[in-house]
Order: sequence, then structure tokens, then C-alpha cells
Amino acid sequence: MKATLKLDFDVIVVGAGLTGFAAAIGASKLGMKTLLVESTGVIGGLAVNGLVNPFMKYDYAGEDLIQGVFSELIERLKKVGDYVGRAFNYEALKYHLVNLLKENRVNILLYTQIIDLQIVEKKIQKIIGSAAGQRLEIRGKQFIDCTGDAALGKLAELTLLIGDEQSRQNQAVTQIFVLDNVQLNKTMEYVQQHPDDFFSWVSPQQKDIAISVAGFFKLVEQAIEDGMDLPRDHFFFIQLPEKTSVTVNTGHISITDANSPLAVSAAQLTGLEQTHQLTAFAQKYLPGFEDCCLRQSAAQIGIRESARIKGKYIFQQSDVTDFNKFPDAVVKAIYGVDIHQNQDEPSVKEVVLNYTDYYEIPARALIAAELDNLLMAGRNLSADFGGQSAVRIMPTCCGTGQGAGVIAALAALTGRKPADITAAEFQAELKKQGANL
Ligand SMILES: Cc1cc2nc3c(=O)[nH]c(=O)nc-3n(C[C@H](O)[C@H](O)[C@H](O)COP(=O)(O)OP(=O)(O)OC[C@H]3O[C@@H](n4cnc5c(N)ncnc54)[C@H](O)[C@@H]3O)c2cc1C
Repeated sequence: MKATLKLDFDVIVVGAGLTGFAAAIGASKLGMKTLLVESTGVIGGLAVNGLVNPFMKYDYAGEDLIQGVFSELIERLKKVGDYVGRAFNYEALKYHLVNLLKENRVNILLYTQIIDLQIVEKKIQKIIGSAAGQRLEIRGKQFIDCTGDAALGKLAELTLLIGDEQSRQNQAVTQIFVLDNVQLNKTMEYVQQHPDDFFSWVSPQQKDIAISVAGFFKLVEQAIEDGMDLPRDHFFFIQLPEKTSVTVNTGHISITDANSPLAVSAAQLTGLEQTHQLTAFAQKYLPGFEDCCLRQSAAQIGIRESARIKGKYIFQQSDVTDFNKFPDAVVKAIYGVDIHQNQDEPSVKEVVLNYTDYYEIPARALIAAELDNLLMAGRNLSADFGGQSAVRIMPTCCGTGQGAGVIAALAALTGRKPADITAAEFQAELKKQGANL
């Protein structure tokens, strides 16, 4: 089929989740003609379509480790009260993401799925998109894979890192949903009176962070005894800035291959079933949830990891636990290893850091090993299973995204390979863009 539309850009970012958003702005700030391509009609990826909330920890010693584009976003959310204790209003996020992209002159192409590409002498010449039955050809100097699922890596048949190193199984997936009309005062009274019914980290007095509650073990046990089919032994929710609304991150679906469209489709359907089971449970058993209603279930099933592209460096779990620092750092981060296991194992295996230090992510984990004009960031950066589980959180995705955007732009600007851009060059530009390095 002939292309009906032909486009040409300096930097092309594929995937408009938080990673792609930050990557496109990072590149455009350097004056590069930048295109952000997205297969859905929404900017925000899992943060919007997946209803993921809140932003996980990104501060250390009183300072925000992730700044730059991420800080610009947070400041806008804070100004209008749409950000409380790291939880955000979904519609506000969606709106500010688009405005920031527009203000930074990023070209946005929605409803376009990249389905093919052409490589000549280790360089992507063009990518092929499909939109409403039409074929698009998009040429570029530098490309960044921010699809979360390593779509460009798969299309280019690059070496992929998939799932756990031993089993190659991916992490369990979750369909998140939002409940409205919750009387949290009543819920928190119950939390206070029944401390043994919750995980030890749950506190009735939660200051500075959004109310976050996980447990209700006895109530879940009772419901199961009464014949309810529930996916977990507990219920987990986070309060949204709207105060009487919560986002529920309780569902749990084992998936051995999150790269299989059939498995992902089945998980999406199971997720919807779990959402309705958990809503019915909350209405019947949870204090404060008696009159709640289901506002929304996530349109995009929550895939924590599927495939990562092998880069010049594979970021390691030990880089997180040893708080490693790198001369070519693009971002500082603090969140710990957080693996949601599949069946036959405890549902969450979390190596919690005691947050005594931060670690850094090197640029080499963002530069593809086998191509000369491809970078990757966010969920599909070059990392081992444990390393990815720590750096996949949304603030860090913004950090790696902006890092990849800046390196791609410097490469496009000077006609060099991303690997030949020096740390001094990209770190100076990242600092100019407000990054905390
Ligand atoms: C269940 C769950 C709970 C989580 N909880 C938290 C949490 O509490 N706090 C936190 O900070 N993080 C959390 N995370 C992690 C975080 O949400 C994600 O890792 C992060 O949002 C990923 O961002 P991304 O931009 O890399 O990928 P995504 O958000 O997945 O964005 C990728 C985008 O690429 C598009 N795309 C894919 N393929 C193509 C293609 N071929 N062509 C065009 N476009 C394409 C997709 O439509 C999508 O919009 C959670 C994740 C999950 C799944």
C-alpha cells in the first residue's frame, strides 16, 4: 500500500506516555523539529489510560531528585489544587501535558500506530504508521522508543530483555479503577480502630502524602467465606485530590507473556471482571464505601513490564540497592525494587529501600546497542528485571524521557551518534532545562 502522508522530522518520539511527553519536550527545547506519535487519542499513557496514581517517591533529603519537565508539570498541577500528596487529578494531568507540549512546539500525531520501519546501515530511515486505514511514512534523524513495550525494538528485531532472567515471565498486571462518593472519615476511623487488619506501613494519620490504605484482611476473608470471588487477600486504595474519590490498585492478574496480544486481551477482560467484583465487595463490606459508585475502569490494562531494548549498558537491580552513581548520569532516583509476582509466589516481592541514599541512571541504558540512531526510555529502557521494577515509576520515566530527548536532539543537531555525545554536553543541556544533576 502506498503512503498517503509523508512526514519528515529531526527527532521522532514514539509513544506519548509520561516518558514520551518528557522526551519530546527535552528534544524540542533544543530547537529540533520534534514529532510525538501516539496510537491512542490521549497523551499520558498509563498515567491517564491506565489510571495509575500517585507519583511514587522522587524526593531525598528535602529535595526533588526529578526536576526539569517533571517539575514544570507538578507546578501546574499544584497551582490549581489538582495535586495532593503526590496524587493528581487525571483530567488536569491530561490537560497540562498537552499544554506543555504545545508551548514547547512539539508536533503531535495521534491515532497513529507504528507498524513497521526501514533500516539502512544500522540507522532507522523511516517508520511506517497506520491511521484509520491509511499508511504514513515518517522520516527522521533520531528516534526514541517510548512505547513501554519496546515496539520499535521489536519491529527492528533488536535483542530484547524480557521478564525475569530465569523464567522470562513478566510481572503480574492490574486493572486500576476509580470509585466516587467514598466517606473516607468513616474508613479512617475503622483503620484507627483495627490496626491489625492492615499492612504495618498503613497509618491513620497520613500527612503530606495522599491517604493510602492497604489491608482489610478480615473483611476480605469474610467476603470470601460468604462466597465472593476476590483476586487478593487485601484491598488497596489511594485518595485522589477530589477527596471523596479513590483509585483502587488491588486487581492482580498473572500473565506469563505480556508481549502476547492474546494474553493481554484476556487480561483486560479479566481485569474488568475483577473491577466489578472488587466494587461490589467495597460497597458491601468496607466502612465508608457503602454508597460508592464505579466512576471508571482503566481503558489500558496496567502492564508493569513487557520487553526492554538492550542498550550500551543494562541497568542492574544492584545499581539500585548499592545506590550506584555514574559519570554519564541522566537522572537521580530513589524508588526501590518492586516486583509484582505471578502465581505460586507471594503477590508482591518488594525489596524496600530504607531511602538512605539515591542512585543514578546512566545515559548508556538509554542508547540502543545495535542501532546508531535509536534511544529508549521509560518502561522499556535497558535494564534487568529488578532494575526496571525500580525505575519504571512515573517521575523516573519523566527523567529518563527528558534525558533521551536531549541526547537525541544533540545527536540530530550535530550529525553524530547518540553514543558520541559526551556526558559534559548532555548534562550541561539537562541542567539548562532544569534537571537536578
Ligand atoms: C498497575 C500499575 C501500577 C503502577 N503504579 C505506579 C504508581 O503508583 N506510581 C508510579 O509512579 N508508577 C506506577 N506504575 C508505573 C508507571 O505507571 C509506568 O511505568 C509509566 O507510566 C510508564 O510510562 P511510559 O510512558 O514509559 O509508558 P506508557 O505509559 O505505557 O506509554 C506508552 C505509550 O506508547 C503508546 N504506544 C505503544 N505502542 C505504540 C506504537 N506502536 N505506536 C504508537 N504508539 C504506541 C501507548 O499507547 C502509550 O500511550 C504503575 C504501573 C502499573 C502498570
